[in-house]
Amino acid sequence: MLRLSQLTLPLDHPADALAPAICARLGIEPADLLAFEIVRRGNDARRKSAILLVYTVDVTLRDEAAVLAAHEGDKDVRPRPDTAYHFVAQAPAGWSGLRPVVIGAGPCGLFAGLILAQMGFRPIIVDRGKIVRERTKDTWGLWRRGVLNPDSNVQFGEGGAGTFSDGKLYCRVKDPRFLGRKVLEEFVKAGAPEDILTEAHPHIGTFRLVTMVESMRRTIEELGGEYRWQTRVDDLVLEPAGAGRQRLRGLVLADGSVLEADHVVLAVGHSARPTFEMLHARGVHIEAKPFSLGVRIEHPQSWVDEARYGRCAKHPLLGAAAYSLAHHCANGRTVYSFCMCPGGRVVAATSEEGRVVTNGMSQYSRAEFNANSGLVVGIDPARDYPDGPLAGIALQRHWESLAYEAGGSNYCAPAQTVGDFLAGRPSTALGSVTPSYKPGVTMTDLSACLPDFVLESFREAIPVFGRQIARYDHPDVVMTGVETRTSSPIRITRGKDYQSLNVERLFPAGEGAGYAGGILSAAMDGIKVAEAVATSIMAG
Ligand SMILES: Cc1cc2nc3c(=O)[nH]c(=O)nc-3n(C[C@H](O)[C@H](O)[C@H](O)COP(=O)(O)OP(=O)(O)OC[C@H]3O[C@@H](n4cnc5c(N)ncnc54)[C@H](O)[C@@H]3O)c2cc1C
Repeated sequence: MLRLSQLTLPLDHPADALAPAICARLGIEPADLLAFEIVRRGNDARRKSAILLVYTVDVTLRDEAAVLAAHEGDKDVRPRPDTAYHFVAQAPAGWSGLRPVVIGAGPCGLFAGLILAQMGFRPIIVDRGKIVRERTKDTWGLWRRGVLNPDSNVQFGEGGAGTFSDGKLYCRVKDPRFLGRKVLEEFVKAGAPEDILTEAHPHIGTFRLVTMVESMRRTIEELGGEYRWQTRVDDLVLEPAGAGRQRLRGLVLADGSVLEADHVVLAVGHSARPTFEMLHARGVHIEAKPFSLGVRIEHPQSWVDEARYGRCAKHPLLGAAAYSLAHHCANGRTVYSFCMCPGGRVVAATSEEGRVVTNGMSQYSRAEFNANSGLVVGIDPARDYPDGPLAGIALQRHWESLAYEAGGSNYCAPAQTVGDFLAGRPSTALGSVTPSYKPGVTMTDLSACLPDFVLESFREAIPVFGRQIARYDHPDVVMTGVETRTSSPIRITRGKDYQSLNVERLFPAGEGAGYAGGILSAAMDGIKVAEAVATSIMAG
């Protein structure tokens, strides 16, 4: 089989137009094309008047060698790659060693647990939060009644941070082993829509994510894995391992009990601040890492559809339009759009009392009235928080607390219209755009809860984005703050063996450890770390 990519056809091409297009592209006769399969479909809307669909197809030909030779050097015509997942180890029958422990049931922990279970190592997965249905109730409790449960919320609990999300499933991580394909295939087995396997920008939406993590839990338990909910890891049991290194021997849980373990995947996500503080105090090597800071900005989705797709807005093959923006400011800062959620809502994503944090989510249908996205500025340790490995956490907490106060100290979020923001005056009323953040917003002045360099960068970038997407800078557009958890403020450094640089048998993984950003890359990192744990167990 050959893989043909970048095959473009008009948006409204007839269904039977693909085969002739393949033949034309490969310079073959219809009789030479035995079969084809759509592997990926995306769209190219750079010219709104002539939007194209962009296909990748796998083709079976009468004489593949001849076609390949004829297209030598053509990067879009190549042998079909082996995208199947190959396990690196299998536990011997009846294996009864000390079971590996996975801390965190987010995408990273979930896939580390699944792969370890599929290899026969019967992992124990512990999470400080609750089972997903219970967790949903607690999360709604914040959104509807302004009541926060610090252990069960948008950040903590079964499925991790990504459960209440748009469920966008794409990333820019290099993936020579097609681990992303393994993740998507497992998601489809667990109930995700099949189109995530072929859509260029697949997404799942929140309600489907809930049933999927439940299904994956059942799979892991059927393979001998075990989950322990409301089980927070508060400390490590370490012993000296020579040369200034330590070795992990167990985990101290919040109830004071000790869970013996000699292989631990640490997949705690970017909001596990008390855990990062404990690791730092225990001497685990941690360094501060860049992340970004800003707000969520909201527009009517119809404005974005029109701006991106013109008269093709609302076309069934296009769906709700997304955008990706970036601007390099005169002050040396970069402003960019982050985690854009078409047809979704802004959500309260805090996990700590007295702090307000925003993020975005949507359902699979992406049918809600507004589009929202993070509007953020990149920050880095050297320039913005040089006072040590945990200084980024202190910075996040500082602005989140100010946002809590500016919102009215009740988990309502501070908000401002773009018109008032650019004019440098507080907002007192909304215009035509209704913000979606729950439990509610307080119209005010966002300069009370954002650093000056962020305000300055926004004032330069928003009009620029307004020239790229019509009405992006419309005066009634609403900004809700603050967006501080764009990625982890730390990295828990690990070696080529995926173990902590100075604590043996501790395997830092996923977004929290600084090795992923998003559901797909976190899940892929979980697979890699599970393989490293299996290799270490087999090495004895
Ligand atoms: C609202 C929102 C929307 C998002 N939308 C998207 C999106 O559309 N697409 C996308 O790709 N990404 C999205 N993200 C980001 C994505 O969710 C994360 O990148 C991803 O979940 C990281 O996975 P992880 O497994 O590394 O960590 P997490 O998902 O954060 O999971 C960490 C888990 O560890 C547990 N834990 C923490 N500390 C302890 C402890 N001490 N003991 C025991 N358990 C502990 C937590 O309870 C949590 O369940 C979104 C994030 C949020 C918050």
